[in-house]
Amino acid sequence: MNIILFGPPGAGKGTQAKKIAENFNLIQISTGDLLRKETKIKSELGKKIENLLSNGQFISDDIVNKLIKKIVFDKNNFNRLIFDGYPRTLTQIHNLEELISESKQHISLVLCLIVEKDIILKRIKGRITCNNCNKIFNFHFDPPNKENHTCDEKYLIKRTDDNSEVILDRYETYIDKTKPILEYYKNKGLFKEIDGNSKIDEIYSEISGILSNIRH
Ligand SMILES: [Zn+2]
Repeated sequence: MNIILFGPPGAGKGTQAKKIAENFNLIQISTGDLLRKETKIKSELGKKIENLLSNGQFISDDIVNKLIKKIVFDKNNFNRLIFDGYPRTLTQIHNLEELISESKQHISLVLCLIVEKDIILKRIKGRITCNNCNKIFNFHFDPPNKENHTCDEKYLIKRTDDNSEVILDRYETYIDKTKPILEYYKNKGLFKEIDGNSKIDEIYSEISGILSNIRH
């Protein structure tokens, strides 16, 4: 199966995509990772991307499409892709559909995590990271204590770069931008909303129940 996963920043999309990939033997695809990998191998395209990024320029749909094409046409990935945060535009949807149908595959399901604004705020603002072991905690949902964490408290860092205004702004932008995309998939009958307000494991168990019923 090939799956697309949507959700606003702070919805835990990456976490869910990773769990799904591990348990259903799928390959997690995010454009951020693809761009980083391509610059790392220093291909022609990678050099171009590095140039654009270092000049603060926009990565075109054309470049993203080239990267996605390699992934979709890789035989090892056949029918086992989970797209995390892609496609973001209608152009990207059309590109992806072309690649998927050219390679004789299809999209099985589009999942969208629906999360309330104040939960997003708590998730992002409450995030605490340990500088020593890199574990991530949350002040509201999963605070570090003697049982789940053994490092000294001095290593615990609270993020300060995210204020409520920025977070809510990103949320609204996401909702506006994805509306036409989600409508598109709703009309195709591939769309499924997931309640993303609960705990990571509860959300995952809902998702895995749905995916277990997909036969192709
Ligand atoms: Zn630690």
